[in-house]
Amino acid sequence: MKVLAVASEMFPLVKTGGLADVTGALPTALAQRDVAVRTLIPGYPAVLGRVRNAVGVYSLPDLFGGHATVLAARVEGHEMLVLEAPHLFARPGNPYLAPDGQDWLDNAQRFAALAQVAAQIGLGAVPGFGPEIVHAHDWQAGLVMAYLHSAAARRPATVFTVHNMAFSGRFPARLLASLDLPPKSFRLDGVEFHGDISMLKAGLHYADRVTTVSPTYAAEIRTAAHGMGMDGVLRARGAAVSGILNGLDTVTWNPATDPALAASFDADHIDARAASKRALQELMGLAADPDAPLFGVVSRLSWQKGLDLLLQQVPTLLGHGAQLAVLGAGEPALQAGFEAAANAHPGTVGCVIGYDEAMAHLIQGGADALLVPSRFEPCGLTQLAAQRYGCVPVVARVGGLADTVIDANPMALAAGVATGVQFDRVDADGLRGAIGRAVALYRQPDVWRRMQRNGMAADVSWQGPATHYVTLFRELLASRA
Ligand code: ADP
Repeated sequence: MKVLAVASEMFPLVKTGGLADVTGALPTALAQRDVAVRTLIPGYPAVLGRVRNAVGVYSLPDLFGGHATVLAARVEGHEMLVLEAPHLFARPGNPYLAPDGQDWLDNAQRFAALAQVAAQIGLGAVPGFGPEIVHAHDWQAGLVMAYLHSAAARRPATVFTVHNMAFSGRFPARLLASLDLPPKSFRLDGVEFHGDISMLKAGLHYADRVTTVSPTYAAEIRTAAHGMGMDGVLRARGAAVSGILNGLDTVTWNPATDPALAASFDADHIDARAASKRALQELMGLAADPDAPLFGVVSRLSWQKGLDLLLQQVPTLLGHGAQLAVLGAGEPALQAGFEAAANAHPGTVGCVIGYDEAMAHLIQGGADALLVPSRFEPCGLTQLAAQRYGCVPVVARVGGLADTVIDANPMALAAGVATGVQFDRVDADGLRGAIGRAVALYRQPDVWRRMQRNGMAADVSWQGPATHYVTLFRELLASRA
């Protein structure tokens, strides 16, 4: 089976979050199941810098005001199609934001261009490549579904995966014609969303199948509380919407081989984590105390992640004799808040503002517990990495966090299956209680060790999820035959 994947980011070429992890790992897992994926991504400078021996396979003299070429290349083991369009993508740094931190003013055109080229490739524009399925990810690729829907020729089947409903790709209605969207698409049953164009809605409405990244999130987004205004659209799609959990790239994330750790370890040698805990304490300016419970955070700093609540709970951590190591970047107020907390509590709170892949690994391998107090979480990858690294996740019971952590409730402890701590109310009391429970469990070394082992034994790989995607693809193709 041939699949064209379309996304705005892909690990290890360009990454701002979990989307890149998924688009970077899923093709490899699918390849083992006879699904050959080629992935189209924009030719940002970081991407073009990694592309060697590229061949131009499709040329567009005028794509939204400039010349563009689709380059085919094999990069890091992936079959890539890279959209080289300097007028749209030759901009360093974050893929979506200008240096002033605001969205690029032409993001509508940039990602409509990506979508348009994807649709053309779906219809056969690249010689010798006829995908049976086009799999588009998130709002940046949402219009692919709309363009293919209105294509006259026999089109490939379409799957749209939403990684986060909070990002809707909303643009003014006046752009409709310039984005080559037919007037009739601007209605409730189309791309219209409260008087604007929503590229996310285009994906949700026009795709043959919609998936999101956990079963619980798939249910949550059908409700007003989590649907971000699109719950009605999703309910209308009925059984076409489903949830498939993300997996973790277990080669990149392997404590037995991870060069970012101070010492490698596996489930039989969990004590060896102590070296990474020490290294992390040193790096973050924390006291070199092997017994203090060390809580880690690896996260975008945003309201979604509930980290404002964590800032309020610094006194709770101090009261328990715990330490906190935060790695994150995002909202200026949160960045400033964690920097202030680190300054106020040297030796107990450490923070690094920025994006640092190696440090993320060291936190997973060195911290005792990982805090993920998200207000909503489509899937979440950090709690998967935490479990694989013997770092006990302490998570809000929402979305994918609910689906991937076994709470240390009395029954789970008695059965010896717990892997973490979940809490229900994402507020100050809820988080305070969860921190207290985690510390109490940490102070029972046998119980804690069992939780670490359970987490490390859990299958967080792409094996299961990839099988679900293949089943979905097969069923979809069979339904159109
Ligand atoms: P989201 O996609 O909402 O940001 P996920 O948990 O799904 O959240 O994925 C986040 C990914 O980004 C993980 O691989 C995590 O390790 C990584 N990450 C997040 N923040 C940082 C950071 N500051 N430095 C390094 N890696 C980070």
